[in-house]
Amino acid sequence: MLEQSNELAAWDRDHFFHPSTHMGTHARGESPARVMAGGEGVTVWDNTGRKSIDAFAGLYCVNVGYGRQKISDAIAEQAKNLAYYHAYVGHGTEASITLAKMIVDRAPEGMSRVYFGLSGSDANETNIKLIWYYNNVLGRPEKKKIISRWRGYHGSGVMTGSLTGLDLFHNAFDLPRAPILHTEAPYYFRRADRSQSEEQFSQYCADRLEEMILAEGPDTVAAFIGEPILGTGGIVPPPAGYWEKIQGVLRKYDVLLVADEVVTGFGRLGTMFGSDHYGIKPDLITIAKGLTSAYAPLSGVIVSDKLGSLGHGWTYSAHPICVAAGVANLELIDEMDLVTNAGETGAYFRAELARAVGGHRHVGEVRGDGMLAAVEFVKDRDDRVFFDPALKVGPQIATALAASGVLGRAMPQGDILGFAPPLCLTREEADTVVAKTADAVNSVFAGL
Ligand code: PLP
Repeated sequence: MLEQSNELAAWDRDHFFHPSTHMGTHARGESPARVMAGGEGVTVWDNTGRKSIDAFAGLYCVNVGYGRQKISDAIAEQAKNLAYYHAYVGHGTEASITLAKMIVDRAPEGMSRVYFGLSGSDANETNIKLIWYYNNVLGRPEKKKIISRWRGYHGSGVMTGSLTGLDLFHNAFDLPRAPILHTEAPYYFRRADRSQSEEQFSQYCADRLEEMILAEGPDTVAAFIGEPILGTGGIVPPPAGYWEKIQGVLRKYDVLLVADEVVTGFGRLGTMFGSDHYGIKPDLITIAKGLTSAYAPLSGVIVSDKLGSLGHGWTYSAHPICVAAGVANLELIDEMDLVTNAGETGAYFRAELARAVGGHRHVGEVRGDGMLAAVEFVKDRDDRVFFDPALKVGPQIATALAASGVLGRAMPQGDILGFAPPLCLTREEADTVVAKTADAVNSVFAGL
């Protein structure tokens, strides 16, 4: 057994090209490697039997929690009956048609159809094509630029990595590619002018957007894309009035709005969609993650009647096994009343987190919304001085927390510890996450 696991570790170091992993340190066995083996509720375990509370739901995706038999049964049943058929030229399965209807029934007003893909990245790629197609059909071939935000996350393909506004995803990949532009991140805690109120900062963001549209020429700007709440960029809720002011600018210049709800769709903020939560009226909505709780890869683009296309599709669009997982997952979200729990237990979790670590001299902000939370660490609270990134304060705290049996996430840009637990988190589990976070914070700073 020992020999076998040594062999597995060697194969892992030599042959497995992991995403977002430093290849050299992994190959030399210097970075943490873990072979995951099972899960139940909010708990996961590895092949040595070591258990952890997964307070990031994988990558904000296992919304119903691990080990739900209803979904694995639906997958098995579909695999037995018809593992694959394509969805081209009018083909479907009972599950793909049913899931499209279930999604539109839950979506914000005005949406009518769902195009299915496999990942958040490919769904955003579809969005770009639908937007370009739309303007070509309307005889506006110049109107093609898409404005995203610094710190937005929309995927890591060529175009979607361009939409993403994080240096790590651009540097050394020759991204962003034209015609993608980035505007101000709605990140109140990091605003340059600290005298601004939230409302004033929202107005500042809207003004920067308007300036960009005017400088580029409104006839060349097709769309704006944003996550209702910044996710990978730092788990940052929008400042007061932000979405109202941004939408005012977009309407003025006939610019489409894409709400990237890959993280927020299906309950994470305590509402079915983040758009409902913040009063956003999008033209297109990106969904993935919570759509199947990641039991199978499935994404989608929800559109209104005005958008459509020909000449676009993947072999695996509306893959029967994945949509079967989607139907069972959405049913389970309703049966377990998870949207309500995300709002209620999420609020409890964030309040407890703020109580436990919010007063620490190196905690600049505890923030979040629904079942999303983040703690941002600073060198100096009063003057808002950040740590040298080389110290890796955020990753050190995430590592200490993991060693105590709780998985959070060191967000990639800044010393930010993120949480996005499964929506089934209980108050007792939240208490454990909070207590262990406080211990990790205290122990890392005691050693600095
Ligand atoms: N959009 C958002 C808001 C995301 O958070 C992510 C992934 O985290 C994506 C898009 C990309 O999804 P995927 O990794 O499935 O391509």
